[in-house]
Amino acid sequence: MAKTVLIVEDEQNIAELLRMYLEKEGYTTAVASDGAQGVEQFRRVHPDLVLLDIMLPILDGWGVLQKIRQEAQTPVIMLTAKGETSDKVSGLKQGADDYITKPFEMKEVLARIEAVLRRASGDDKSKARRLTFDKLIIDLDSFELIVDGKRVETPPKEMELLYHLASSPNRVYTRNQLLDEVWGFDYFGDSRTVDVHVKRLREKLEGVSDQWSLKTVWGVGYKFEVV
Ligand code: CA
Repeated sequence: MAKTVLIVEDEQNIAELLRMYLEKEGYTTAVASDGAQGVEQFRRVHPDLVLLDIMLPILDGWGVLQKIRQEAQTPVIMLTAKGETSDKVSGLKQGADDYITKPFEMKEVLARIEAVLRRASGDDKSKARRLTFDKLIIDLDSFELIVDGKRVETPPKEMELLYHLASSPNRVYTRNQLLDEVWGFDYFGDSRTVDVHVKRLREKLEGVSDQWSLKTVWGVGYKFEVV
């Protein structure tokens, strides 16, 4: 299946050149010309990799990277201008997978993309079941919930429910979906079971951060909302 690359770049010439070259090489592409659009496209197309410029209108590359990392571990390659060494360092620290300095050769871009994608797919198998948000760590391997730096005793089903919701931020799940996917098809409970667990989770998570919350979607179900 063709891999999708999201190109977030406000310089039209560069974006177009990348798009044409990558499509010729068999990639599917999406292009965003400012940071806000970049985040929006990221959520819509679920790309396999993101090429992310730093200087962008509305929201810069760091802001976009931060939003992406709140939601996913999708590989990100930063496009930096010549000599922005400190940017490279902080980019890698903030969770970028690689960087390419402008002006670049298309061949180099392709080689970096392939290397990063290879690394990402290799990592997938041993990927830790751990999600990190502002003041929140949900670790399903150790069944630990860390809220604002403190470990909070949480029963396994609550952990699994929270992990499930937070794995797909902003996606709305119905109570029946959650029963099926978290408790399993042969569970003889009713949808109030979900409500009770969400209520207990809320007591632990209420007001911890303004960047995420466990939301009720009236008449539908629940979602882990990330802003
Ligand atoms: Ca730019």
